[in-house]
Amino acid sequence: MRINPVLSCVVPAFNEAENLALFIPALAEKLQQLDLAAYEIIVIDDGSKDNTLEVLYSLVDQYPLRVLELSRNFGKEAALSAGLDHVTGDIALLIDADFQHPIDEIPTMLNLWRNGYDMIYGIRNRNTESWLKRLFTHAYYRILSLSSSVSIPEDAGDFRLIDAKVITAIQNLPEKNRYMKGLYAWVGFKTIGLQFSEQERQYGKSSFNFKALFNLALSGLTGFSDLPLRVCIYLGALLAFIAMAYGCWIIGETLIEGTTVPGWATLAAGMTLLGGIQLLFTGILGEYISRIYTEVKNRPKYIVAAEYSKEKNTTPIDTKTPT
Ligand code: UDP
Ligand code: MG
Repeated sequence: MRINPVLSCVVPAFNEAENLALFIPALAEKLQQLDLAAYEIIVIDDGSKDNTLEVLYSLVDQYPLRVLELSRNFGKEAALSAGLDHVTGDIALLIDADFQHPIDEIPTMLNLWRNGYDMIYGIRNRNTESWLKRLFTHAYYRILSLSSSVSIPEDAGDFRLIDAKVITAIQNLPEKNRYMKGLYAWVGFKTIGLQFSEQERQYGKSSFNFKALFNLALSGLTGFSDLPLRVCIYLGALLAFIAMAYGCWIIGETLIEGTTVPGWATLAAGMTLLGGIQLLFTGILGEYISRIYTEVKNRPKYIVAAEYSKEKNTTPIDTKTPT
C-alpha cells in the first residue's frame, strides 16, 4: 500500500562538514512533518578530508542517522551505489548534502509516488550556470539521446525519489562503471520529472571541475552509446573513398601529362591528417577497452570501512560486492 512508507534518505558527502551540521537537522525536521511510517538518513562519507565524520557522529544520537564510512574517496556515483545498497525503506530519496536540492520539494515527490510513480526525478533549471556550460550540456544530451537506445532525460540529476523495486533493479546491474543517470533510465519503470530551481551551494565549492565533468560525460557516452565507434567506421570509409578518388586522379594525370614532381605538400598534409585521425580513433578504442578492463577486474564498486548508527557502532571492513 502506498500510504505511509518507510523512507530512506541517501546523502553522499565529500567534505561537507559545515553543510551537514545544518542539513541533517533541516532534513529531519522536514521529514517529521510528512506522513511516514518511519524514516532513516543514510550519509555516505566518501573519504572526506575535513571533519565531516566528527559532525556526523555528533548527530547520530539525535537523529535516525546511519553513517557509512567509505575507505577512501570513490566518487559520487560509487557513494550513491553504496547508499542504495544499504537502503531498508520502501522508498529512497537521493539528495545532495549542500542544500542545492530543495527539501521543500519532498512532499510533492512523495505525493507523486503515492499516485503510482516508481521514480520521480528532479529536473533542475540551469539559470545560475554560464551560457557556455548550458550550451555544451545541451549539445551533449542531444548527442547522447540521438545515439543511445535509452532516453536519458536532459538536466535530470541525482535528486530523486525511488521505489524499492527500482533500487533492486539498479542493484542487479553488475557493471562497475556506474553512470547513474544512465542506469536510472536503463531500468525504466513508471517515471516522471519534476522541475525545481537549484539553490546556490551553502558552504564550500563543487567537487566537479571541468575535468571531472568531462570524464563523467565521457563515461556516459561510452557506457550508453556506441556512436564514437560508429563515427570511426563512417569517417574511415569516407576518407578511404576520398583517398581512392585522389589516387585515380593522380594516375590519370601521370598517364596524360607524364611524371610530375609537384604534390608533396598535399602528401604531407594528407599524412598529418590521417595520422591525427588514426590516433584519435585509437584513443576512442582505448576508452572502450579500458571500460572492458575495469569490468573484467571485477573489483568492488566501493569499500565500507565502518558503519555507525545509534544502535550499531562499527562493523569490520565490508568488502561485499553487491550482486
Ligand atoms: N560528492 C561525493 N563524492 C565526491 C564528490 C561529491 O559524495 O567525490 C557529493 C557531495 O558531497 C555532494 C554531492 O555529491 O553532496 C554533489 O556534489 P557537488 O555539490 O560537489 O556537485 P555539483 O552540485 O556541482 O554537481
Ligand atoms: Mg552541489
